[in-house]
Amino acid sequence: MSVNQQAHTGPPYGQPQPGYQGYQQPAYRGQPLPGVPQSQYGAYNGPMPGYQQPAPPQGYFPSLGFPSKGSPVSLNSDTSSLPPNSIGSLRPPPASGAPPPASGASVPSGHVAYSQLGHGDVQNGIPTSTAPVQRPPASQPFLPGSAHTPVSQTSTFQQYGPPPASVQQLINHVAGMTVGSTTVSAPPPAGLGYGPPTSVPPVSGSFSATGSGLYTPYTASQGPPPSSVSEGLPLAQPPFPGQLISTQRLPTQVPGFAPPPSTGIGPSYPPTAGAPRPPTMTGPPLPGQTLAGPPTSQPNHVSSPPPPPSTMSGPHHGPPISGLHGPPPPTHPPQPGYQMQQNGSFGQVRGPQPNYGGAYPGVPNYGSQPGPPPPPKRLDPDSIPSPIQVIEDDRSNRGSEPFVTGVRGQVPPLVTTNFLVKDQGNASPRYIRCTSYNIPCTSDMAKQSQVPLAAVIKPLATLPPEENLPYLVDHGESGPVRCNRCKAYMCPFMQFIEGGRRFQCCFCSCVTEVPPHYFQHLDHTGKRVDFYDRPELSLGSYEFLATVDYCKNNKFPSPPAFIFMIDVSYNAVKSGLVRLICEELKSLLDYLPREGNMEESAIRVGFVTYNKVLHFYNVKSSLAQPQMMVVSDVADMFVPLLDGFLVNVNESRTVIASLLDQIPEMFADTRETETVFAPVIQAGLEALKAAECAGKLFIFHTSLPIAEAPGKLKNRDDRKLINTDKEKTLFQPQTSFYNNLAKDCVAQGCCVDLFLFPNQYLDVATLGVVTYQTGGSIYKYAYFQLETDQDRFLNDLRRDVQKEVGFDAVMRVRTSTGIRATDFFGAFYMSNTTDVEMAGLDCDKTITVEFKHDDKLSEDSGALLQCALLYTSCAGQRRLRIHNLSLNCCTQLADLYRNCETDTLINYLAKYAYRGVLSSPVKAVRDALISQCAQILACYRKNCASPSSAGQLILPECMKLLPVYLNCVLKSDVLQPGPDVTTDDRAYIRQLVTSMDVAETNVFFYPRLLPLTKADVDSDSLPAAIRNSEERLSKGDIYLLENGLNIFVWVGVNVQQGLLQNLFGVSSFGHISNTLSTLPVLENPFSKKVRSIVDMLQMQRSRYMKLIIVKQEDKLEMLFRHFLVEDKSLSGGASYVDFLCHMHKEIRQLLS
Ligand SMILES: [Zn+2]
Repeated sequence: MSVNQQAHTGPPYGQPQPGYQGYQQPAYRGQPLPGVPQSQYGAYNGPMPGYQQPAPPQGYFPSLGFPSKGSPVSLNSDTSSLPPNSIGSLRPPPASGAPPPASGASVPSGHVAYSQLGHGDVQNGIPTSTAPVQRPPASQPFLPGSAHTPVSQTSTFQQYGPPPASVQQLINHVAGMTVGSTTVSAPPPAGLGYGPPTSVPPVSGSFSATGSGLYTPYTASQGPPPSSVSEGLPLAQPPFPGQLISTQRLPTQVPGFAPPPSTGIGPSYPPTAGAPRPPTMTGPPLPGQTLAGPPTSQPNHVSSPPPPPSTMSGPHHGPPISGLHGPPPPTHPPQPGYQMQQNGSFGQVRGPQPNYGGAYPGVPNYGSQPGPPPPPKRLDPDSIPSPIQVIEDDRSNRGSEPFVTGVRGQVPPLVTTNFLVKDQGNASPRYIRCTSYNIPCTSDMAKQSQVPLAAVIKPLATLPPEENLPYLVDHGESGPVRCNRCKAYMCPFMQFIEGGRRFQCCFCSCVTEVPPHYFQHLDHTGKRVDFYDRPELSLGSYEFLATVDYCKNNKFPSPPAFIFMIDVSYNAVKSGLVRLICEELKSLLDYLPREGNMEESAIRVGFVTYNKVLHFYNVKSSLAQPQMMVVSDVADMFVPLLDGFLVNVNESRTVIASLLDQIPEMFADTRETETVFAPVIQAGLEALKAAECAGKLFIFHTSLPIAEAPGKLKNRDDRKLINTDKEKTLFQPQTSFYNNLAKDCVAQGCCVDLFLFPNQYLDVATLGVVTYQTGGSIYKYAYFQLETDQDRFLNDLRRDVQKEVGFDAVMRVRTSTGIRATDFFGAFYMSNTTDVEMAGLDCDKTITVEFKHDDKLSEDSGALLQCALLYTSCAGQRRLRIHNLSLNCCTQLADLYRNCETDTLINYLAKYAYRGVLSSPVKAVRDALISQCAQILACYRKNCASPSSAGQLILPECMKLLPVYLNCVLKSDVLQPGPDVTTDDRAYIRQLVTSMDVAETNVFFYPRLLPLTKADVDSDSLPAAIRNSEERLSKGDIYLLENGLNIFVWVGVNVQQGLLQNLFGVSSFGHISNTLSTLPVLENPFSKKVRSIVDMLQMQRSRYMKLIIVKQEDKLEMLFRHFLVEDKSLSGGASYVDFLCHMHKEIRQLLS
């Protein structure tokens, strides 16, 4: 975070660095990847031929990834032997099944083609303002503290302090600063900012347990529970975990390699398919028994007919099982606790649980079940897959060894595991994570599985200090060596031939001459003898210095500029915000990003203030006092001064300081409440254009821009649209004006960061368009109050200003023949189908890329990705950052399912769904998500798991958390808002999630819940997390919950007085103030420990989280409960248990 931190200037890696002059190379935007016969791939030897791995990490083995050692069993032939209808029932008609494909039916129009926010722009309609804004056309000398009298005339600038030096340079449009007389609205009371409602009735339209009757949860206390549940949940009996079967079918694969070991139940179990299993999961109700309710409008929730007696009888799946509904007897007694799910299955029946019913007021609809009901039973939450357990297991299994990237197709440790990465030829998972590290060889397989093939790429990710930044390679004038045809950059997978004189491209197979300066001999293995001296031959990630050919207009870029643009309307001034910003900037400007060892930042700065007019400031170093110039003609924005607007901080230090001192005073008495917005961005854009540089605008804005100006907005918030077909309009910009502006900004490399301080609706969906499409960041502080919010805002601002960012960036993802990047998610702009353009790309932003087959892949060759990011560094250096990743390819679906990463899958699915709401009804988006995941799991069940009772839910080991995480996405505020979630909150969250990396989406959707009272005050470690359910909370304990945006500290009513004294400094529960925004600093071990935990969590996140104290049974607790995501939510979201039952039903329907 510190600007002093090294940036890309690593050692030359054994290569002399000739210096940065003169270049000639093909332009960056190479031609699109042509189709190339894949037959030439035969020579590919894998990522690191002959590479000697000093100490292979435990637990995985290079040999596994290579299917040539695979089993003789062919899945394809097996599949073909299935009854025709068994496949047919597995998925819908080909075109409609997959949400991602353009023809997908579930999200009808969302994915027809890539487009950014462009759908259905709503026209602005008639301006609401009735009278033209009075615009005093003149200027007058500005004196601090003087009345701001509107003066008529144009053509001069105002000045405060000494008289203007050169009045003439001003142009017509410059006019006097005006102070409006509009009525001043009193700031509303402080609120919570972003957060869910405090009291929310269930919302229908989802498979709510109470309302719809579609999907009725069972309640232990309410009469006879559905026998289907108990019968369908032979939980104590051993189902047939599919993983064992699939493992056997690939006998040569080394067990234990696949990170989430599907063989995790260990060798103690008989390896024979169909053999008795340990007690494990089974599923929810049997088909036909659960849903006695009327058919519903949700196609996915229609009750299923009883399953055919035997649907999964393929002999290839192992010995046929007789009596499908009577699983073999358990080999172990039922064991409560986690062990149950070690093999990916789950389920155990517990006795009646009186408390359980409380959350499910709805009456179960199970009346159709004939016969005497069995004793009430329920799915034991301890026996269903636990995120906490999966996270803990991964930490203990994989946290101790470094992750060495030399092997193709390795699944990395989870994002929640701390591990070090050693780059040995593939990009670190900090840069790229994939939904699967084993890609189906054919498009048919991919469609059958419905597993999206996607990579989440964070090109400028921050690395821990123990890891090396990408080395900077400088090839001098000739620039990087690239494939002649597809323009892929030199990388470890290129194959040198003919004694080293040529190389064959690993992406397109084209053979290219090695440039003379790059020639090197090969050793006896065919490897260049300088292999280890060149990052681009031996590492997965590195940088090239770009030549002038990679620069706009064939001209090396100037260093970027930062422009600070401060709203000085009434609310901003009165809240103390303007003063706060100015005070902070005085010191923050000394911490602008700088290149590695440079003494000072090359970034220039400029300042603008605005309400419904704009004020530019001349802060040229030669001035004694800053000068203000007012532009009141906002209809045609221009920059009234060039010289002196963008300056070096050190040179203009005193003038800048003076300006920042004076701004709060100048506007202290303002009564202007109206603001403009688009002209502010235009002004910044014009300034960067005039200075011929890229840069970033930091805009601090408070209100809906209703002043007469381009981009003027109206209040169109309408919560009545929720759950209607028009709900999507809430997420769409209300005018296309900002899309066009964004396009101009991207062309100039003008990135817009937006800090919003709304006291009411300000239309984030529209204001955020430019930020979103330029790669910028949005921060939102609703009902900003100095006392409680300034820490959070200042921390965000400091980090935002200081963080590493690349400007004028273009990213291209190349792939080896057979797959190609087809869709992109994130904050960027695309003018064609391949280049992701970002005016700015910072270290926190990710781009999620989806791949589709366009040909067959081969197990021998695998699949390769190369992400190339061209950008301008903060010192103005043009660079290319390259990340390479090699993946395995499989002909058996089991391999796909064993090498998936659910966290990444969820990242993709959430972004996909969050884009879908722009064009489709939210309910359709939710249904599509459920449908796709059901198909993913059904395909596994059908093709990879052993035949067993339909009453058993069998999940792939790597995906056993898919249901719980998916449910969290479905319940999120974007897809299922409670009544108090504002339209702006939803738009804001939608944009945030779109740029999140995998770790961020993981904790955002499934927050981390820590029992603080269990913390060891003598150790640095965190207390073990617990599951997000109210039943896990004890009245005698204190808990911390964080999701990347908020931190809650929940205090039970029975917490010992001593603990309260230590943490809050109060003598009783009743004295705890829930308005605290920080924990009191008290000198005792518990207080120190808790504060250190909070600090540690704050450090881990890209945004400073808002701290909220929640007392049990206090009204704020409703807010907190929203984040207990395993429970039924107040907005109608299902509990984990209920959702799992629902998913099981969906899967059974697909299988029947
Ligand atoms: Zn090529």
